[in-house]
Amino acid sequence: MNKGPVNLNNRYDLAIRNGYVLTLDKNWTEFPNGLILIRGKQLEYVGLEMDHKVYQADRIIDAKGGIIMPTFFNGHTHAAMSIFRGIGNDLPLDSWLKDHIWPAEAKYVSAENVYLGSMVSALEMIRCGTGIFVDMYFFQEQVVRACEELGIRVMVGEGILDFPTPNKKSPSKGLEYTEHLYNLYQNHPLVSLSLPAHSPYTCSPEVLKAIGELSRKLNIPATIHLAETATEDVEVKEKYGKSSTKLLADLGFFQGRSVAYHCNHLSDEDISLLNEYQVGVVTITKSNMKLGSGVCPVPKLQNSGILIGIGTDGAASNNNQCLLLDMQLTARLHKMQHFDPTIITAKQAIRMAILNNARIYGLDDCLGTLETGKLADLMIINTDQAHWQPLYNPYSSIVYSMQAGDVSSTIVNGKIIMENHKILTVDEDKFRNKISELGKKIRNSPSYL
Ligand SMILES: [Zn+2]
Repeated sequence: MNKGPVNLNNRYDLAIRNGYVLTLDKNWTEFPNGLILIRGKQLEYVGLEMDHKVYQADRIIDAKGGIIMPTFFNGHTHAAMSIFRGIGNDLPLDSWLKDHIWPAEAKYVSAENVYLGSMVSALEMIRCGTGIFVDMYFFQEQVVRACEELGIRVMVGEGILDFPTPNKKSPSKGLEYTEHLYNLYQNHPLVSLSLPAHSPYTCSPEVLKAIGELSRKLNIPATIHLAETATEDVEVKEKYGKSSTKLLADLGFFQGRSVAYHCNHLSDEDISLLNEYQVGVVTITKSNMKLGSGVCPVPKLQNSGILIGIGTDGAASNNNQCLLLDMQLTARLHKMQHFDPTIITAKQAIRMAILNNARIYGLDDCLGTLETGKLADLMIINTDQAHWQPLYNPYSSIVYSMQAGDVSSTIVNGKIIMENHKILTVDEDKFRNKISELGKKIRNSPSYL
């Protein structure tokens, strides 16, 4: 390499060579012996190495024949909840939340613990090849602080409920804080913003309406947990005489860009409404399995034209932040439920985990595929190990064989965050030790466990 004379057009900050590039573009273009050239935060060349032999780069990474593909996009989580990983296991959502999580949150959710929990989750995500996550929690400036230090991309959103949160005393204060976040981050290179309502059973109609209105004013996505459990469906119908979905539609919640999480208990009328308003749905397979909440009718929603993404939810209910595993389970679950192995293909599962999420949140002009001009967010996957061999079909191997530790390097916004399994931007051990120490304190309050 580095054979040509130096000139500005031929000089790059970073080159990644000797990899099997999966662009995930609309034609599923692949480049065996591929080359990626990055200048600043942008992809400047994605193609065959033999077609671009002459270039200069400040750094050259040899992918050693591994797969190079876009980073995963985690469509929904509460990153800081890693501090509660393992609390209240084997319980239904209602009891898990009310008897365990909410009391623990009241005592332990502080600005510093949100920073710590978000950092630990973000580290876990980078190790699994996730380059961006959509957060719903409290003290969102602390989530940004962690993500800036680590270098991962994030869409933050201060969670709003009827009752006081650890950060804000009322929903109106939460809305004011969202405007503050908007002013802080509107031109941030790694940060974008959403406006989350916790759910139709924890937000009054007035609050839901106000969230929809502010999200449209700021032109950011309004997001919400929707139809997660059968109990919610019954409660909301008793209270309002209509389903959660109909309630939100009537309140104008879906009139701008909107995203609904879970969506396990929907009628045909609900599905028609979600389709009519082009609401993006993020399925949360693994958390739903653990809490026994239900199954999102992914194939039916897809067939009706609704865009489906995938999220992990927080580490307190998943119990990890690895989107790869959620993608792999989503592909398998619906085959089993429908006795039909064709119902979700490996390529469809990969689409849901990356490009669909980017489209749902309006970020697909810069993320979701490896194409010239897009942002340089990508991972290198080591395919040397036995479970990758023989490698006939990379998409099938990613969805049915890959393991989380196979991601060797993660690059976000043109910056190398993890290389050869080593985190370069922060001291990972320090944060792992800190959260372990916090866990010991929480363990001394056994009523939460
Ligand atoms: Zn959630």
